[in-house]
Amino acid sequence: MKKYLLPKEGNFYKANLHCHSTVSDGKLTPAEIKDAYKAHGYAIVAYTDHDIMIPHDELSDDGFLALHGYEMEAGEVGGIFKFRKTCHMCLIALKPDNLQQVCWHRSKYLIGHGEEYRHLAHYDESQPDFEREHTHECINAMMRAGRENGFFVTYNHPVWSLENRSDYAGYEGMHAMEICNYGCFVTGFAEYNPIIYDDMLRMGKRIFCIGTDDNHNGKPFDSPRCDSFGAFTMIKAPRLSYTDVTDALLAGNFYASQAPQIKELYFEDGKLYVETSPCEKIVMTTGTRKVRNFTRERGKRLTKAVFEVLEEDIYVRVTVKDKYGKCADTNAYFTDELFK
Ligand SMILES: [Zn+2]
Ligand SMILES: [Zn+2]
Repeated sequence: MKKYLLPKEGNFYKANLHCHSTVSDGKLTPAEIKDAYKAHGYAIVAYTDHDIMIPHDELSDDGFLALHGYEMEAGEVGGIFKFRKTCHMCLIALKPDNLQQVCWHRSKYLIGHGEEYRHLAHYDESQPDFEREHTHECINAMMRAGRENGFFVTYNHPVWSLENRSDYAGYEGMHAMEICNYGCFVTGFAEYNPIIYDDMLRMGKRIFCIGTDDNHNGKPFDSPRCDSFGAFTMIKAPRLSYTDVTDALLAGNFYASQAPQIKELYFEDGKLYVETSPCEKIVMTTGTRKVRNFTRERGKRLTKAVFEVLEEDIYVRVTVKDKYGKCADTNAYFTDELFK
């Protein structure tokens, strides 16, 4: 029986799940971001300004969905900025009426224009100010609070943050990590993170991967350093409604990409089938040293691959690379669930 790893029914919606607007330190208004992203084929933007969550429901229409969320930081304190480790995460509200921020502090953390919007923030006034520090205990409390209060929690740009295994090995509670953060990547950081994703998976963390822009739009769209439209997440959902899309996020019905498309992905009788846009290479990575690839032969097209999967593979995930070196990455699928 076919087990569809990306649902058979529904539509793919192109999404940017991490962005900054004039509500914090971005240069474009939420409406300008909508216009620019719609013009580039996007149907979904999650507005994740630094520490301030404002719904932008007025921007949603038949062809566009505005999700609301916010990005939180727990960084080392003191010393020189360039040496300081930090941890950033986005919380995306799973329901449109979830407007209450967690881990709120009445006087700290807002940046850019955030102070102008502080009075609009909703939070539990009975709670004391939440003080942040770069410790596993604090970061896990933040991830847990997000998860328990109706948010999709993503772990952002570990390379820019100067984080390594000693940090992320201890993080528990994220739904997904950024396998590509284009805003950091375009600046020069090695922020395409398949190695960190595999490292986390091999530690047994069952997390998804997303591609995001983390755009601030300090450079114009025609600049080579523009931080928009470089990495995205293709979400497959029955309809473009708020909860259809967030249900798809929770279910892992998406893949991350910098350009290539993954049209179909299913598992049947011990084999993984994938169909893609024309590409150079289709690779299946596993939880072991077994890696298999299909490479395009000269003069031929490559758009399909079939991989044998064994239960001992622990997990499998697929990477598609195009002629420009751009990649698409599926989520990881653990074999104990595939063979169930
Ligand atoms: Zn960040
Ligand atoms: Zn950001």
